[in-house]
Amino acid sequence: MKRFITALAAGILMLSGCSTMRSETADVDIQSSTAVIITHVHIDRNGREVTVHGSLRPKSAAVTRVGHVDVEFIGASGLVLETVKAETNTQQFSHKSSRSPTFSATVEIEGFDTVRLIHHPDTLQQCEL
Ligand SMILES: [Zn+2]
Repeated sequence: MKRFITALAAGILMLSGCSTMRSETADVDIQSSTAVIITHVHIDRNGREVTVHGSLRPKSAAVTRVGHVDVEFIGASGLVLETVKAETNTQQFSHKSSRSPTFSATVEIEGFDTVRLIHHPDTLQQCEL
């Protein structure tokens, strides 16, 4: 919990849609889907241990499935070094709650330049990656 608070104090990147923004540690490339927007992305780095957090927002009230996020760590040459699937804290968007579903993934990695976040509407189990 302490590390999470530290990350918040360091600043949260407000991102939406397809955009690339320089964070303190890496470029962030966000690929939202037609149904869901990836937002509030931040990267928390502690030596080799890297945690990527973010929130998910439905584009319309008709969207109920949260899906999941694939996180790619990309090196300077453009090569994907590692792909991880980020777990979400819930599977369904709640229209009663104002709290957005969140996702996070932690990996041990170094030497990457860019973190790419890709939303998939399927559940983790259905992901073909
Ligand atoms: Zn996937």
